[in-house]
Amino acid sequence: MVTQNQKKGSGMDIRSVGVIGAGQMGNGIAHVMSLAGYEVVLSDVSQEALDGATSKIEKNMARQVGRGLITEDEKNTATGRIRTTLQLADIGGTDLVIEAATERETIKQAIFEDLLPHIQPHTILTSNTSSISITRLASRTDRPERFMGFHFMNPVPVMQLVELIRGIATDEETFATCKGVVDRLGKTAASAEDFPAFIVNRILMPMINEAVYTLYEGVGSVQSIDQSLKLGANHPMGPLELADFIGLDTCLAIMNVLHDGLADTKYRPCPLLTKYVEAGWLGRKTQRGFYDYRSDAPVPTR
Ligand code: NAD
Repeated sequence: MVTQNQKKGSGMDIRSVGVIGAGQMGNGIAHVMSLAGYEVVLSDVSQEALDGATSKIEKNMARQVGRGLITEDEKNTATGRIRTTLQLADIGGTDLVIEAATERETIKQAIFEDLLPHIQPHTILTSNTSSISITRLASRTDRPERFMGFHFMNPVPVMQLVELIRGIATDEETFATCKGVVDRLGKTAASAEDFPAFIVNRILMPMINEAVYTLYEGVGSVQSIDQSLKLGANHPMGPLELADFIGLDTCLAIMNVLHDGLADTKYRPCPLLTKYVEAGWLGRKTQRGFYDYRSDAPVPTR
């Protein structure tokens, strides 16, 4: 049957979305997809992460109800559309898969490898990776033409942009389908080529890394660096505060992809960033990073 969407040349109809990884990004993706009317299956290897995502979605939607952005009914209908699971195979019945697990290529490759026997022929595979080659991830699957980058920004319910990244083999129907999903979310798609870290993080992450060097070399304190960029460049958040928000492990992983992929020393990750990650001080998600979040107000850790 030819659907309305296909007649308009805007790709296939998507009814259900599988989200792999229920961390900061996965819960946000499940949140916006369910509100847009998609059936969502959210999976993770950790029950704790799934429980955390469920309560975060509930809390964030309640806040939207409080602000009059959605109704209580819409919230309840949307949360009712989300199913959580520890079994990757449960993702198999969905039309569109968005992988949002930890930013490590071996983890992502293993996920797609394990998922392949369970998915349908028409299923589109995507990754929310911030930096890893879409072409390389796609080449390890049985459908590089139906694979692309679907890169949301954090926090997903608030941020307007989604970067769409074609791998070398991505076909037009796949791109049009994903673009249609972004439109239905009421967000704006930006198309980026498949080079390390794409557009947003190619520009943002070296700035954050430079802020960490500025701290490492003693040019400024955590507070003075963040205040300088907020008041001097009109940034809504300081770069170190933003790094904590993104996750320092993710920041380091992206810098490593830039450094390895572009073979330019200007992308070398700051040793202080590495040290924080080695300490397990990953930012807000572990309660400690460039700031300590364990008391009421964040306290700089240097
Ligand atoms: P996170 O650390 O908050 O969450 C990662 C989740 O993946 C965890 O819950 C973990 O249990 C799960 N996971 C690990 N291995 C898994 C597996 N084999 N199968 C299923 N789940 C698994 O990380 P995050 O910030 O949500 O980032 C996830 C992805 O989104 C990364 O690729 C990251 O680059 C990308 N991203 C992050 C941001 C950001 O600001 N944090 C923004 C855009 C994109």
